[in-house]
Amino acid sequence: MSSTVYQIPAWAERVAASLGPGPHVVVTGISPSGNIHVGNLREVLVAEAVANALKARGERVRFVFHADTIDPLRKIAPGVPESFKEYIGHSLSRVPDPEGCHASYADHFLAPFEEALQSMEVDVEVLRSHELYESGFYAGVTREAIEYAGELRNILQEVSGREMPEHWSPYLPRMASGRLGGRVLEHVSEERKVVYVDEDGWEDVSDYAKGEGKLGWRVELAARWKALGATFEPFGKDHTSRGGSTDTADRMAKEVFQYPVPGRYEYEWIQIRGRGAMSSSKGIVLLPRDMLEIMPPGALKRMVLGRDPARALDLDLAEGFPRFMDEYRAETEAYPVPFAHLVTVAQTVPGDTQRATEMLSRGGYKEAARDPEKLRRELAYARNWAERWAPETYRLGVREDLPPEAASLNEEQRTYLGAVAEKIEDEMDGYAVQDLLYGTAVGMGLKPKAAFGAVYTVLLGKKSGPKAGPFVAGLDAGFVRERFGVVSGDTTDGGLEG
Ligand SMILES: [Zn+2]
Repeated sequence: MSSTVYQIPAWAERVAASLGPGPHVVVTGISPSGNIHVGNLREVLVAEAVANALKARGERVRFVFHADTIDPLRKIAPGVPESFKEYIGHSLSRVPDPEGCHASYADHFLAPFEEALQSMEVDVEVLRSHELYESGFYAGVTREAIEYAGELRNILQEVSGREMPEHWSPYLPRMASGRLGGRVLEHVSEERKVVYVDEDGWEDVSDYAKGEGKLGWRVELAARWKALGATFEPFGKDHTSRGGSTDTADRMAKEVFQYPVPGRYEYEWIQIRGRGAMSSSKGIVLLPRDMLEIMPPGALKRMVLGRDPARALDLDLAEGFPRFMDEYRAETEAYPVPFAHLVTVAQTVPGDTQRATEMLSRGGYKEAARDPEKLRRELAYARNWAERWAPETYRLGVREDLPPEAASLNEEQRTYLGAVAEKIEDEMDGYAVQDLLYGTAVGMGLKPKAAFGAVYTVLLGKKSGPKAGPFVAGLDAGFVRERFGVVSGDTTDGGLEG
């Protein structure tokens, strides 16, 4: 069971309201030709939100993720060996896994995405297109497409403005070489087969009810709407541009397949701040699993959808991330710990949940430290973030030895630290320590900036750091006493004896 309460966003309610009466089939489709990134995830989450909005108004809804596994390999993904060029034109489901860990190239890229969807509790039916073709699911629409090849060709020419080859066919038989695209000569419709000629001029037969070929992408889009009974599908702007695949599919659906165009939503793309638009082919990708290393699934959903998926999203995983996490936690947790504080704790006592619990309790976050399993996860998010994304100001480590930067402290700062060392006690919480640090400075007439600067200098070797009260309270009081005492007047002890 999900612990978070799912709220249907207003935009999804509007989209659902614009769709007619059900039952509904919400479809989303992705080609697993390379890493399936967070931008692709946005499409699935848009579809999910609309499916949920339809369910909320009492509709029967089937939610389908159509993985285009039968699609030909067009370009080898970054990181895949050059030798895979020999598979260009082959179905992704029939290309071997470049790393040998899955059944095929398609599954290698699909599996991590499916896992991410599962961990996000996205309740979607994953269909692999090669299985649909092999089971004969697309035989009916394929026959229709071949019968109306002339009409489909005209639509393609009119919409794209490009002349199609004379022997153009909506159906691409798989040739003996494994490549898709033999030239169709004849349709034997009662046997659901075509006769075709391959690259070398050999004639052969392709059974389209057994997945021995597929429809070309633009025709397939309209054909699968009909076969699946799709009533809604979101698209990115690459498909909806003028002359793009939705323009042709819309006309093909209405004029050839006699099927109404499903409801549509255009989502915008996601960029990573500082890295540009995500692109599998350029290798600029962020995978859902990368993000699940720094935040829980619910937060990932919220971040990827954003306030309005029709707008471009600039993912800020650095400077702005702690604020995002704090807003998310404030809405989903009873006792949220500020993310920046978790980051401090995670770096101060790495991998030690017991000491982290003590540190949080002393820092004033006793309630949040009650569930060790949850705390362990949260500390892992915070530590991963600190290591991979955090700006320098968030990176810290309490120095094991007195940092050399401490040499720059003036006499007043040293006296201040000595005074704090005398008064700090084990049972003080974050508020008490904050009061002590501040009150001692004021009492001595020392500016708070100089006072807190001294604290950070002797602990972190830096002039600034996290909120001092909970940070210092989280440390062992004996350690703090010793460290602060060393730089106070006591430092001359060696000199006196010598
Ligand atoms: Zn693999």
